[in-house]
Amino acid sequence: MVCSSCASDSGGPKTDPRWRRALWIALAVNATMFAAEIVAGIAGGSRALQADALDFLGDAANYAISLGVAGMALTWRARAAMAKGATLVFLGAYVLLSSLWAAWHGSLPHAEIMGGVGIVALAANGMVALMLFRFRSGDANMRSVWICSRNDTIGNLAVVLAALGVFGTRSHWPDIVVAIVMATLGLWGGTQIMRQAHRELDVSAASADGSHRRYSRPVV
Ligand SMILES: [Zn+2]
Repeated sequence: MVCSSCASDSGGPKTDPRWRRALWIALAVNATMFAAEIVAGIAGGSRALQADALDFLGDAANYAISLGVAGMALTWRARAAMAKGATLVFLGAYVLLSSLWAAWHGSLPHAEIMGGVGIVALAANGMVALMLFRFRSGDANMRSVWICSRNDTIGNLAVVLAALGVFGTRSHWPDIVVAIVMATLGLWGGTQIMRQAHRELDVSAASADGSHRRYSRPVV
């Protein structure tokens, strides 16, 4: 499930080196898990794993944006968000189409690979959430980490349940159904991110002529 606000710019003491180190660790964990789920998803023939990988990619992009462009102009933040949204839309569409194709032509996914990687993903997300939670202050920030880790947990659990379903039914349908739901959510999340970034680019273009209007709605 693509998170909106795992590492929103509004949270955390930006200049604190410990906070930046935590963001780097979160970025490394999410980028590694994105690659691991894509590779395991292809090797194990599981579309649900590939769909779950979209969330790790989105989160990795969030942490990279927080580290790289948090202090930069709104225009660059919006451009980075636009690139993130477009990538999620592209990959979400790919996973969705490949799931629909696999529904009729695919073979049985490897349930052990799905379950094993799903549990590792659960542990990785839990570890990152605990680490970031220590730095959060204020109800809104706590809430955004909470909502994000809850959504991540639901996604990872859905993969583990799909693995059990595949194992129990000897059918690929649990994998396909979970993949279609998650890829659709990723696709939808990506379009929302692009729309928000588009609005912010409009606003920053409008305020480029001298008015210093601060547009503070967070990137979704
Ligand atoms: Zn997430």
